Amino acid sequence: LAKENGNRTFQFFTQEINHSLVEKKTLETELRKALLSNQFVLHYQPQIDMATGHITGLEALIRWVHPTKGMIPPAQFIPLAEESGLIIPLGQWVLETACTQAKKWLDDGLPPIQISVNVSPYQFKQTAFVSMVTETLVQSGLPAHHLNLEITESMTFDTQHCQTILQQLREIGINVSIDDFGTGYSSLSYLSKLPLTHVKIDGAFIQGLDKRNGAIVKTIITLAKNLDLNVIAEGVETEEQARFLQSLHCDEAQGYLYSKPLNQEQTEELLQQANNQFSRI
Ligand code: C2E
Ligand code: MG
Ligand code: MG
Ligand code: MG
Repeated sequence: LAKENGNRTFQFFTQEINHSLVEKKTLETELRKALLSNQFVLHYQPQIDMATGHITGLEALIRWVHPTKGMIPPAQFIPLAEESGLIIPLGQWVLETACTQAKKWLDDGLPPIQISVNVSPYQFKQTAFVSMVTETLVQSGLPAHHLNLEITESMTFDTQHCQTILQQLREIGINVSIDDFGTGYSSLSYLSKLPLTHVKIDGAFIQGLDKRNGAIVKTIITLAKNLDLNVIAEGVETEEQARFLQSLHCDEAQGYLYSKPLNQEQTEELLQQANNQFSRI
């Protein structure tokens, strides 16, 4: 097309842009409706103790079950939810749903796990964030040490403010992970400055496990251990990757090798089977 007619190419792109703006507006309206009509679900991905093979945690991951488009992954609507402010009620829904579900599984006598919930920097910046979390724990009845909040480093990271909020969460007994570590605007000094409990190494380092990335992974694990932090490797897909991580005494792993994110029923089945499920690795 480009070779054939430059103008037509231009038109083509202009239409594309208009189309995507309209689509964005439509999606935003639909997102509002979806929140009111319960079109969101949580899936759960197991986190595995590398030494024992036991499930230690479940990461709650949101999906939008769209009435006509089907299952929409978070990458396609979280940024828009953040832009439009909808992330505040949406994030609250995620936290409430995850805590209520985890409490129910505990009450049902399933193996105790930690539930990990992703927190957007926009939520984190709200002055009412800590009281919202506290209120959710009280309402759901979930003990604080069963909750793990995953935060990401972002450009607008105010270390001082972050430190204060995290300190308050830690005093309540909540665990805090830094997610996607090594990718964002991270500096190694965050690990020592922030009162964290867990570090999640981004899947990109694990999946592209060449000599260089191997050295980075090794460095993060060593540093985290020296700082008494739990290390979780994300996006573990192969036995080879798992063996490498095990040789470095990485605490936990998460990824398709062990399990994809599961819906509520599948998660319950997995928890019921429990125990030595993953010890083959
Ligand atoms: P994340 O928190 O880093 O979550 C891990 C993502 O990696 C998930 O994608 C998961 O399905 C995917 N994953 C897990 N194992 C593997 C693997 O072995 N290989 C590969 N290639 N990928 C794997 P998902 O569910 O599409 O979520 C994407 C991102 O959306 C999350 O990244 C998180 O940043 C965000 N997100 C998900 N749920 C929520 C939520 O409730 N609130 C907020 N604020 N963000 C969320
Ligand atoms: Mg996460
Ligand atoms: Mg991550
Ligand atoms: Mg990620």
